[in-house]
Amino acid sequence: MNQSANRHDTHVDISAEQLARAIERDEFVFHYQPQISMLSGKVCGAEALIRWTPPSGDVILPSRFIPLAEATAQIRALSVAMFPKLVSDLVIIHDVLPELVMSFNLTAQDFESDEMLSCVSNTLERFQVSPHLLKVELTETSLINSSEHVRHNIKSLLQQGVSLAMDDFGTGYSSIDVLSQWDFSTVKIDQGLIKRMLTSERSTTIVESSINMAHQLGLEIVAEGIESEAVYEYLLNAGCTEAQGFWLARPMPLAELLSFLRKDRRWPGMPIGLIHMAQLDHIQWRRSLIEHVMTKAFNGGAETGVRSVLAEMDHTRCKLGQWYHGIGQEYKGIPCFDALDTPHQQLHAIGQQLLDAVNQADPLSEVTQQLQALSQKSGELLSLLHELEYYARLRQTGHSH
Ligand code: C2E
Ligand code: MG
Ligand code: MG
Repeated sequence: MNQSANRHDTHVDISAEQLARAIERDEFVFHYQPQISMLSGKVCGAEALIRWTPPSGDVILPSRFIPLAEATAQIRALSVAMFPKLVSDLVIIHDVLPELVMSFNLTAQDFESDEMLSCVSNTLERFQVSPHLLKVELTETSLINSSEHVRHNIKSLLQQGVSLAMDDFGTGYSSIDVLSQWDFSTVKIDQGLIKRMLTSERSTTIVESSINMAHQLGLEIVAEGIESEAVYEYLLNAGCTEAQGFWLARPMPLAELLSFLRKDRRWPGMPIGLIHMAQLDHIQWRRSLIEHVMTKAFNGGAETGVRSVLAEMDHTRCKLGQWYHGIGQEYKGIPCFDALDTPHQQLHAIGQQLLDAVNQADPLSEVTQQLQALSQKSGELLSLLHELEYYARLRQTGHSH
């Protein structure tokens, strides 16, 4: 059933009693907003967004009642009532798209008792749905200043196999601190930041740096609030991995979502941003290798205090290698892509010789010679990656016109 726009979010003064009655009468449903993988250009997930649908036919948005539900401690009852509905919808959704990952929103209060935890495990057991296809979205405010018990319960949920996304990244004042302490799989860049990219260079730089940071940490990056093709294309080129926003799809009732998924639409999904990331990955690898070698050669390996990341020496397991043997394979057959493998393997061989040299305390002159060889090979590899990026951009332009 289609709701006309002016029936949405009708202003009503909601009292705690009205809300309690609505929860009792089960007047809530989820709408689902598709999330698109920027690698494949296809739907890979959805976010469940709660709607209050009173008998009047209105659709009341969460901003009008979630804060009240939190302030009157009714949120737990609401979340516990909604989770089984989510999973029962998900079973139907999985009939159309079995690998769809469903994200849902919870708050710290949901974890104050053990009720939510047992609700999740019982429901998943009952419907035989894998926890790996569920992702819980929390904002940093849910995580900072939370009690020991809340933290413990969130961790238990993650141990069950549900993954964790940080919602509204960039709006708080300690997102990065929280990011460093919790086992996130995903960062969702706040829609305010995404919107300000249109008018502010600073916001663009912040978004780009957030994408780079998330990539270095091995996290998925979802951009929220994409309202135009231009913003989508920009984020694609910046290496963002997932997209959500009105330009792609609005939140919709289950029936609409099912027909949407059946259409199997495609958006531009050429991972050019990831070629750029591959260059950064290689520079990062080279830097950590050189740093390690220099510390050993000049300091005799004395601890500097900061836990530095040791360069991965297996050429199939370093980040560049993972890209090359994974997603990068879509460029197979293109000469500058195929040519990458040789200098990349040689770089790892030189890297290993360097490590051996400093471990055996070889003369500095020999170490320096090998460093020069490393630097030259690195230049060779980077110019191939540049060439590939240029080629992919040309191909993309050719595609879109
Ligand atoms: P959120 O989790 O950050 O969800 C994204 C919000 O952005 C949704 O608003 C969505 O409709 C909106 N949105 C998505 N793409 C665009 C776009 O391109 N442009 C614009 N202008 N907006 C876009 P919604 O559904 O009104 O939800 C608002 C907030 O309410 C959510 O923010 C979340 O914090 C909360 N919420 C929603 N469902 C639940 C729930 O089941 N439980 C709890 N605790 N909170 C929920
Ligand atoms: Mg959310
Ligand atoms: Mg958000």
